[in-house]
Amino acid sequence: MADDCLFCKIIAGDIPSEEVYSDDDVYAFKDINPTAPVHVQIIPKKHIAYIDDATEEDTALMGKLILRANDVAKQLGIADDGFRYVINTRGHGCQTVYHIHLHIIGGRQMSWPPG
Ligand code: 5GP
Ligand code: ZN
Repeated sequence: MADDCLFCKIIAGDIPSEEVYSDDDVYAFKDINPTAPVHVQIIPKKHIAYIDDATEEDTALMGKLILRANDVAKQLGIADDGFRYVINTRGHGCQTVYHIHLHIIGGRQMSWPPG
């Protein structure tokens, strides 16, 4: 838990969020400003600011983040048509919240390359 972290406050329940999935290690919730019909954030409950701050110790946690994201994609009905996972990182990556979060985005046709 980092005192100044928005997503740690969401995990603690100090800031309300719309839960999609929760277990001991990860938390998934609806994005407050969705960019698609389905836009969910899935985050480790452990505070790690940037994806490349994850260490060998976090190997299982990072794997679990992906596997539970897959479950959420199925649960929300976007798995068959396809979806996108995004981890924006630092300035050029447009990261605005400094706690690892995997965007789960779907429910419409995406385009490529990203802006
Ligand atoms: P980033 O730009 O860091 O990749 O993504 C941060 C995401 O967090 C954005 O999609 C933004 O809409 C979402 N977000 C920011 N503040 C809140 C909040 O208070 N509640 C929820 N549910 N999502 C938030
Ligand atoms: Zn945090």
